[in-house]
Amino acid sequence: MTGVLDGRAALVTGGASGIGRAIAEAFVAAGARVVLLDRDEAAAQTVAGELGAVGGVGADVADEASVRRAVAATEEALGRIDVLVNAAGILTQSPLVEMSLAQWRETIDVDLTGVFLLCRYVVPGMVARGSGRVINIASQLAIKGGTSLTHYSAAKAGVLGLTKALALEVAPDGVLVNAIAPGPIETPLVEGISEDWKRAKREELPLGRFGRPEEVAPTAVLLAASPGGDLYVGQTLGPNSGDVMP
Ligand code: NAD
Repeated sequence: MTGVLDGRAALVTGGASGIGRAIAEAFVAAGARVVLLDRDEAAAQTVAGELGAVGGVGADVADEASVRRAVAATEEALGRIDVLVNAAGILTQSPLVEMSLAQWRETIDVDLTGVFLLCRYVVPGMVARGSGRVINIASQLAIKGGTSLTHYSAAKAGVLGLTKALALEVAPDGVLVNAIAPGPIETPLVEGISEDWKRAKREELPLGRFGRPEEVAPTAVLLAASPGGDLYVGQTLGPNSGDVMP
């Protein structure tokens, strides 16, 4: 995929770890100039150095002022943002009947409102320039649900709805918005999940294994690239989804 993103300017949230990091690495390899955004600022900067990215900024995607600052800093560093990848996310587990409102709100704030805020501050520049790509990382749990994951499943289903609605809104302006809804991927996010849950997941997957972040990243490169992603509008691609398409 060398060169397919030559000259493109990309902001990747959650870029310090897991899927975001792998996407940032693939984008750099494809020729993009990349800024990583993460709540762990030191990690974002360290990883940016390791990957040959332009830089790393610290921000909380759930905090409006923090997002505004980070987007402004990114636009200053890159000149513009052609591609936005929303990969920042958190996952905790709790049965709904034991879940506190604070736990519910934290997940909705980071996993759903965070996507809204990044789109809110990045997409206007894309619309003004008449081109851009937004790639939102949702989850198969948005579609299938997950045990003790009502907050996470609801937030990720919200991301799919936001993706489709925003895609319709801005496609006429040349901005293509799509989602990637991965099945289980081996990252720090799933380290805290019980071994029983992981075993059950592996057994229901046709490939019989968790994916690796670098196996998700090429899907993001496809959606970001032209002509690769030119015909995708409001779609959801599902690496390691476990489904066989009809
Ligand atoms: P990860 O924990 O390895 O990476 C998530 C990154 O997001 C971390 O660097 C973290 O610091 C950052 N982050 C968390 N909250 C933040 C905040 N409020 N503001 C800014 N940065 C924040 O996890 P991952 O598995 O790579 O997850 C990436 C995305 O993929 C998430 O949206 C996750 O929900 C989604 N996803 C993961 C899987 C999986 O199985 N790992 C499957 C489907 C979807």
